[in-house]
Amino acid sequence: MGTGRFAPSPTGDLHLGNLRTAILSWVWARRTGRAFVLRLEDIDRVRSGSAERQIADLQAIGIDWDGEILVQSTRHEAHTAALDDLAAKGLLFECYCSRKDIREAASAPHVPPGHYPGTCLHLSEDERQAKRAELAAAHRLPALRLRAPASRWTVFDELHGEYTGPVDHFVVQRSDGVPAYNLAAVVDDGFQGVDQVVRGDDLLSQAPAQAALATLLRIPVPVYVHVPLALAPSGARLAKRDGAVTLEDLAALGWSPADVLEWIGRSLGVSGARTAADLLDALDMDRLRAMPLDPWVVTPPTGGPQGA
Ligand code: GLU
Ligand code: ZN
Repeated sequence: MGTGRFAPSPTGDLHLGNLRTAILSWVWARRTGRAFVLRLEDIDRVRSGSAERQIADLQAIGIDWDGEILVQSTRHEAHTAALDDLAAKGLLFECYCSRKDIREAASAPHVPPGHYPGTCLHLSEDERQAKRAELAAAHRLPALRLRAPASRWTVFDELHGEYTGPVDHFVVQRSDGVPAYNLAAVVDDGFQGVDQVVRGDDLLSQAPAQAALATLLRIPVPVYVHVPLALAPSGARLAKRDGAVTLEDLAALGWSPADVLEWIGRSLGVSGARTAADLLDALDMDRLRAMPLDPWVVTPPTGGPQGA
């Protein structure tokens, strides 16, 4: 029947925006008759204890999931196998550029902002040998980048419709030898049978590249649902420093998980929902699909839930 997921990075406590995205991914999966799985994306930065706290917070707001939680750092062999597969098909190239090299070259007019300028794409074997030796002398390794199969790719998003975006020659293995987020996420979504990806709309621009990569790896491309982020009143992304934005902070001010759910519900046009099950009831597909796409502007409270 398909599977949806929530895939947090354990870099700190989940804030209200993360909790709302978690709720939406759970509701979207359950409402469409899907299984729902969790994955801890811990191959990058992690903060110790954060994974346990994130899981406890998801349980506290009443989200349930199917099967074991997948811990991304246990998947190294699968990530490496995918990299080997791409390499065997001639789809990877070594990149010797430093961040500075890329910044300086990326102002070329035909390169989308933030994209790789193509510096290492067409080097001769002699040039590669020389670059490898240069890096080795500096105790660095080349990164591996994907030879993008097309310059643009189209994905389907339930909220944004057909979305076409540029596909970069993006990094699939970092210069420290660790598989890159885009590679790991695609391989693990495939492994977990994920065919519906609900997540923050800061990742919408990554979806074309991920879909292209999935296609090259013969992994079915999921349907996407990129939901609005939570912003602080300043207009910046909501963050811990903005005030009481986590379950723990809010509990200290007298907010129960039910109070927090009710607030998240109100942001989605639902009043009086006190449990995740209430929200699941209230949010039918018509309502979900008609959800406003503007960010959720959160004013962190300084007192209890009364009157909020
Ligand atoms: N781990 C990513 C994050 O917390 C989300 C990745 C995804 O949902 O594809 O930002
Ligand atoms: Zn390069």
